[in-house]
Amino acid sequence: MACHHFEHLKPLGPSDEAYARGCEECLRMGSSWVHLRQCLLCGHVGCCDSSPNKHATAHFHAVKHSVIRSVEPHESWGWCYVDEVMVDLA
Ligand SMILES: [Zn+2]
Ligand SMILES: [Zn+2]
Repeated sequence: MACHHFEHLKPLGPSDEAYARGCEECLRMGSSWVHLRQCLLCGHVGCCDSSPNKHATAHFHAVKHSVIRSVEPHESWGWCYVDEVMVDLA
């Protein structure tokens, strides 16, 4: 695989726990989201690019954590912002 950003990641908690937490920044703003993504480096939960505030992508630009996963029910893919590759994390 061309992307090495998924190597040596610490395991995160279950995705349904992250899903239940919701987008921290949207909750603070009183906004809403479409889908939830979780940073695989620090566990930050943010909203997807279809959401008005795009907090998952904003987190990447803010702290350069490049890999996320979907925490939507029945989804198990990850995405690397740097290499723009999608991986199956199942
Ligand atoms: Zn958000
Ligand atoms: Zn992060």
